[in-house]
This record gives sequence, C-alpha cells and structure tokens, in this order.
Amino acid sequence: MEDLHEAALAYYNNAPRDLQRLAWNFYLALDGDGDGRVSFIEYINFLQQSYVWIRPNFFRDLDRDRDGSLDFWEVLTLYYTVKTRGGVWCQGCQACLVGLYFTCVACFDCGSKTFDLCPACYKRRRFSHQHSFFLDNHVLLRAKKGLPPGATNVYQALVPQPAYRAPAAAMGDSDLMDTFQALEMGLATDKSRTCSIM
Ligand SMILES: [Zn+2]
Ligand SMILES: [Zn+2]
Repeated sequence: MEDLHEAALAYYNNAPRDLQRLAWNFYLALDGDGDGRVSFIEYINFLQQSYVWIRPNFFRDLDRDRDGSLDFWEVLTLYYTVKTRGGVWCQGCQACLVGLYFTCVACFDCGSKTFDLCPACYKRRRFSHQHSFFLDNHVLLRAKKGLPPGATNVYQALVPQPAYRAPAAAMGDSDLMDTFQALEMGLATDKSRTCSIM
C-alpha cells in the first residue's frame, strides 16, 4: 500500500497543472459537505455513484493516519488507484492488489475478466477456481511480450503442449514444479530479447 501511495505522489508531482487540478476536483467531489475531510460515509456515497468496483474496506488502507477520514493526500492514492488499477482485487481476501499479485493465465488469455490473487491467498490456496495455472503479474507481462512464433497466447507459450490438465480446485506440489519448469521453458524462448517493457 505504501508503494501505491508513493506512486500516487510521484504521479501528482510530475503531472502538469491541469492534471493536478483534476485530482483536486476528484477530492472536492468526494468531500460532499465541504469540510476539508472525506468521511467514510462520503466515501461510500461517492463509490455508489461512480466506482462500485472499489471495495468499501479499501477506506481502511487509504486512511494512513487512522483518523477515520481522508485528507487530500490519502484521497490522491484513491484517485491514482481509480486511474491506473481499474479494479484489481484479490479473489481470496478482497484486498486491493497494488503490488505483486498472481493471475490465472487461462482467464487472462480469454481477454475477459481476470482472476487475481494476492501472494498470501495464492500461497495458502485460499481460493476456489476452475483453472490452476497462475503467474505473477511481472512474469506475465514479460511472457506476453516474448511470445514465441506460433504461440497465440501466454498459456501456449509457457505450458508444453499438450499439457493442459482438467481443471483442478487447487494446485498440488507436482503442479507447482510443472509450472516452474514450464515457466523456465517459456522464458528461455525469450533469451535473445532484452527486457525493456517497463
Ligand atoms: Zn488475498
Ligand atoms: Zn481462470
């Protein structure tokens, strides 16, 4: 969460005046009674109007000084989340995924809604899902860039064919080993490229 706050500050400090004003307008729109603070009620009212994908309990993460309301800089983190994250939440614990997280490769390849997990939920297998192959968001980004010839999606690129298993509720140790092996194979195909996506 601290990373997200720092990123929001960096974004704001480097933004031109008109973009900074948009962030201020966002803050003023949230502060319904104009008292200079955004209460939990104001936050909820605002979300219900425009951003239903943001979970109510995200307020707790935003409220860094734990005083029960949000000042401009705390709202700035919300603004940055709205602009850049588009609603990536852990399907296990409902936390907002702001750093490294795991995503289901099959769902990612479908181009529809992604199935995402925080590292803790993935590690402890606190989820129920029809697919079992997950990658962290950074690896996925690299894999997407380095698709070998003939592969049309990340799954084909990283999993030796035919290796697609029947959907499993949770990943066993051997699955995990397979995943790492598949991952190594996939990344090996990318050796000649330099990593410049970020
Ligand atoms: Zn989680
Ligand atoms: Zn999936």
